[in-house]
Amino acid sequence: MPNQAKTWSKLNKTAYRGRFAPSPTGDLHLGSLVAAIASYCQARANDGAWLLRIEDIDETRTVPGTDQAIIQTLLKFGMEPDEPIIYQTDELRQSNYQAVLQQLTEQNLTYPCVCTRKKLAGLNVYPGYCRDQKIDTSLLHSIRLKTASQEFKFNDLWQGLQTQNMAMQSGDFNIKRKDGLFCYQLAVVVDDAAQGITEVVRGIDIMDSTSRQMYLIDLLGLHQPNYAHFPVITKNGSKLSKQNHAKPITNEDPYTTTHLALQLLQQEPPNLQQKTQSNLINWASKHWQPERLRHLSEINY
Ligand SMILES: [Zn+2]
Repeated sequence: MPNQAKTWSKLNKTAYRGRFAPSPTGDLHLGSLVAAIASYCQARANDGAWLLRIEDIDETRTVPGTDQAIIQTLLKFGMEPDEPIIYQTDELRQSNYQAVLQQLTEQNLTYPCVCTRKKLAGLNVYPGYCRDQKIDTSLLHSIRLKTASQEFKFNDLWQGLQTQNMAMQSGDFNIKRKDGLFCYQLAVVVDDAAQGITEVVRGIDIMDSTSRQMYLIDLLGLHQPNYAHFPVITKNGSKLSKQNHAKPITNEDPYTTTHLALQLLQQEPPNLQQKTQSNLINWASKHWQPERLRHLSEINY
């Protein structure tokens, strides 16, 4: 199968730029460490750059000090970003988001929305209540982006060909919240472009948002990255996450923890003679076999 072989050949080596983008809402847990290692190995295996972005856009969820804890853990685990770390709350980032909002507004692609949470309870797709209404903008309002029924297709490295349509997933979606904070969908697109990301490696649990991002990328005339959504790590049927109290990983024994993370990533790590963290992370980068995750949506821990 020559086509299959081509899929797994290395991408343009000098061009590859990947990232890990944690939210500083708590310490890293095993699920987020798996995400860090997957993105790191995928970047290193392609001789690319690996960047770190602290996604602190939702300041209401930020837990002070966790950004530094995450950075220290990554360093302890032998993963050092190749460029300065960026924060979404930085003034420059915020002014970039504002410029993009202005651009979309000038193109008549946005509108204010005064719908309450209560009014939208139980709805997955926004029905466009405020779209063609005269809205009193002195009221507290969010800003939504107009969407249409449009199919977006992408060939996910691990999940294969995907087809998504915002009309069935989200409808017109918020890009700025009522409290004045910019929304994740807008920030992630602007940041990935600013960091020149060529491949987005992240968990399958946020794969649904890809069409919204592809749409924004098109509107802004940016370059579409490749997508690689790895399987979610579950325990007893539910996702390992901060919300369900996944234990934070400690910096005490990075080798053993990384060994476990690599097993979860189906990499079958050996027992190295010299059990040092740098040996193991180097082994993982050199022997990274992304095809082993193909079509896996869930890995039970
Ligand atoms: Zn509304």
